[in-house]
This record gives sequence, structure tokens and C-alpha cells, in this order.
Amino acid sequence: MPFADIRGHDRIVDVLRRSLLIGKTAHSYLFEGVSGSGRKKTALTLIQALFCTSLPDDACGSCPSCRKIAGGNHPDIHLIAPLPDKRDISVEQLREMQHDLALRPYEAPRKACIIDPAERMSTSAANSLLKTLEEPPGDALIILLTENSGMLLPTVRSRCQLVRFTPLSVEHIQALLEQNGMAEEKATLVAAMAGGSMQRATELDNDALAARRETVLSRVTMLSIGTIATVFDTAEELSGNRDATLELLDMLLSFFRDAVHLAAGSGEIVNSSVGIVIESIAKQRSLPQTLEILERIYETRRAVQRNANPKLALDQLFMTMAGSCP
Ligand SMILES: [Zn+2]
Repeated sequence: MPFADIRGHDRIVDVLRRSLLIGKTAHSYLFEGVSGSGRKKTALTLIQALFCTSLPDDACGSCPSCRKIAGGNHPDIHLIAPLPDKRDISVEQLREMQHDLALRPYEAPRKACIIDPAERMSTSAANSLLKTLEEPPGDALIILLTENSGMLLPTVRSRCQLVRFTPLSVEHIQALLEQNGMAEEKATLVAAMAGGSMQRATELDNDALAARRETVLSRVTMLSIGTIATVFDTAEELSGNRDATLELLDMLLSFFRDAVHLAAGSGEIVNSSVGIVIESIAKQRSLPQTLEILERIYETRRAVQRNANPKLALDQLFMTMAGSCP
């Protein structure tokens, strides 16, 4: 696949393409980022571009080499992962790979290897890799993928060029989901809950998502200052760790944005399948009050991102929401 198909990592793609053009790619890369953020796709495209017989800095997608890589059967690429029944990548796996890298490539100009996830290399495996990272046999390209480079031995880290993949933005994930045929309403919701990972977005179970949306909606519409205990119970029930709370807040943002649209007389809402409930939220408050709540949800989201206690942050938010109801 060409570099143009990699979304949300323009700067990384720029740097890689420039290094391909001048023939100065690193021997060993460490791609760090959440699983599903595009690390493996980028690694494969980099190798594809390096091996491509028609383009100097990209994968043409149609030469025999590009096609073999896309089909997962290029003989000069090694993918190293823990064996099916094992937790770690073993030293034997790495020895075998190193032995193979030392042989002449079958058809590519050099060999390439992806180790994923690199943090699962046993200590002896990681130690056995040090010399290979420094001087890869036959000029091989080695790419390590990790969710957290801090989990690798410093000696491994320091021998690789670190490339950081930021989580994909909600907009990118939503666009990709819609491209894959998901309806806009669902894509908005799934994207908000995916934590920057396309993998997570595709894994999110639809039923679980719909159930969560219903729970959140019913709790939110029942918030009332008259029963203050319910406010704290709701915060207790809906809050979780930081990521879960951020997901909840993204969901609330999508509901209240819709409520603002309805109150302002626009029928264009994202959560149309639960439009009736959204309408009741819109009717609970005046438009300025609903806008005020929307702003408070944004504030809460920023606070939780900056490490505010999720439960306390939700306590405050739900108090405000309950207080603005008649
Ligand atoms: Zn090609």
C-alpha cells in the first residue's frame, strides 16, 4: 500500500520518504504507539517502498515485490511474534532470525524484520539482539514495534531510531470507519470510544456499545438535585479509570451537542436512533443552560486528561447537570 494510505501520521511519513529518497534509512527503528495506531502498516509500507522496483520513495503496489508483501508471502521479510502458546519471544526465535538475516536475500536488495511486540522479548532474547541492531547482517532493516519504549532494555532503545506514533484522532478513526461502510451515527460513537486505536475501534462490540449508550442516557436523564445521593451513585457507576472516563465524556459530548442542535431547531443529529431521549435532554434545560453543560463537559474532559481524579470530576459535572434541571 502506498504511504498515502497511512492516515494521521503525515510528519512520520514525510521523514521516512525523505530518508528513502536519499538512501539513508536507519538500520533499526523503534515504532512506539498504541496498538492499532498504524505502526505495523507503516512498517510494512516502509519495507515495501524499500523493496519496490518502480518507485524510489514509495510502494507502487503493483510490482511483483509490492504484491508479494501485500499478500504476506515475501521470502525476505521476517515477522517475529510470540509463538501461539508462549508469552514471550524466545532467544531461539531471534537466533533463527539472525541466522537467516545473514544469508543472501532471495530477491529483495536486503532482508527486513519486524518484531512485534518488542516488549515481549525475553531478557536473553533482547540481549542477543543488541549486536544485530548495531550492525545488521547483510544491511538488513529491523523494525521493533512497542506500545511503550520504557518497557524495553535501555541498551535496545538506544540502538534504534525512535519514531513515536500519536493515537489517531477521533476524526481520523471516524473517517476510516465510514470509509469501511459504517453508518455515521455508529462511527461517531465508536470513534469516540476507540482511544486512538483503529484496532480497538473495529473490535468494539456493537451490542456492548449500544448497551453502554442506553445506560449512560438513562442515568443522565434521571439526574436531579432532589436526590443528591443519586448524583454521586451515578458518578460512581459511570466513572472508571481515566480512559473509561474519557470515553464516557466523549459520549456525553456527542449527546449534548445533539441536544444543542435540537434546541436550536436543527434536526441534524448524530444519535438519531435515540433521538427521543436526546429530545428529552434538550427539553430539560434552556438552550443557554444546555450550552453551559456542553462547556462544562469539555472542561471536565480537559481536567481528566490532565490527571484529575475521574470520580471527583464526574461528581462535580453531574452536580452541575442536576442543578440545571428544573
Ligand atoms: Zn512496487
